[in-house]
Amino acid sequence: MNYLNDLAADIEGWKRDGRYRTIKVWESGSDTWMNLNGRKILQMSSNNYLGLTHHPKLKQAAIAAIEKYGVGSGSVRTITGTLDIHEQLELELAAFKGTEAALVFQSGFTTNQGALSSILGADDVVISDELNHASIIDGIRLTKASRRIFAHKDMNQLEAVLKETQKHRKRVVVTDGVFSMDGDIAPLPEIVQLAEAYDAIVYVDDAHASGVLGKNGKGSTDHFGLHGRVHIQIGTLSKAIGAVGGYVAGAQLLKEHLIHTARPFLFSTSQPPAVAATCLAAIQVLRDSGDLVTKLWENANGFRSELKGLGFDTGASETPIIPIIIGDPALTMRFSDRLLEEGVFAQGIVYPTVAMDKGRVRLIVTAQHTSEDLAFALNSLQKVGREFGLL
Ligand SMILES: *Cc1c(COP(=O)(O)O)cnc(C)c1O
Repeated sequence: MNYLNDLAADIEGWKRDGRYRTIKVWESGSDTWMNLNGRKILQMSSNNYLGLTHHPKLKQAAIAAIEKYGVGSGSVRTITGTLDIHEQLELELAAFKGTEAALVFQSGFTTNQGALSSILGADDVVISDELNHASIIDGIRLTKASRRIFAHKDMNQLEAVLKETQKHRKRVVVTDGVFSMDGDIAPLPEIVQLAEAYDAIVYVDDAHASGVLGKNGKGSTDHFGLHGRVHIQIGTLSKAIGAVGGYVAGAQLLKEHLIHTARPFLFSTSQPPAVAATCLAAIQVLRDSGDLVTKLWENANGFRSELKGLGFDTGASETPIIPIIIGDPALTMRFSDRLLEEGVFAQGIVYPTVAMDKGRVRLIVTAQHTSEDLAFALNSLQKVGREFGLL
């Protein structure tokens, strides 16, 4: 059998639905303005929330680490791949997060895979918000635990599930801290309260909250003043932190357990030393000043209210992630293409990532956008929004 015929049929289907896409190849590094096919394009879709990818302290740290350690770590963490720079990063992260310990993985994705599959056994149940990230869903699939899904942020459903599952040995409630498609914040105080009432464990994935929410970007637990009441905090080093990697912040015993059980930690090579050094420098930059985070929120809140003022539907956004809901998948992708002609990149996100009638372009405002940049984006959005009859 020619397996390529099967694949071609899938691809034809995506083309018919207007969901087919090619990968854009950018000719410059992650920044507010980036080169695409020789044109300068305003970037409104990167996760580089604080612009740290070009921060001089991070670049110096990476270069110095390459000079000192070379480019690779040479092994998985448990053999020869834990260098002192990895340990320093974990100590700094634990101090920053206010937890006993932190354990670093190669990415946020592998962090969820490792952590969920390590802590959840066949006698346990995992209780997950329906809009949780793909890496959480896949992490859960790797476990033998029972699975229950609650409707997005629906605390009545969560309580009902907690009531029904009291026979399980351990119950773990899993939520994104900030939801990546809508830019809304998890009701963490309510989740913690319910978890305490029903003796469950709270697991929050702060990928889009790391460097964004809380004092100096310490995350959702800090934002809500819940220190000591959230058992497991996941963070990413790939978005606001500006490099790549992920981590678990929590109890020292949790760390010791993960060192023995988390498969990406055990069986995949550790971060290159330059990456660990970059992340360490980034956490120190955040520790020492909240200015970038303050600027990020000024930009985000200002831009969101301008968009709403123009008449755009920004959905449930309350963070720097600001969707503009368009609806039909093909229309959404055409809107994104048309914006690009105007010089603005806003990624179209459509079914099956979001519901069929909830296609959107997802804007992410950063601390680095100037008021001129944001005015340029607004003008282009207004022009294209009128063309498409959205305004
Ligand atoms: C992006 C994201 C991840 C994956 O993080 P990487 O470091 O890019 O692998 C995990 N969880 C959530 C909620 C995310 O948004």
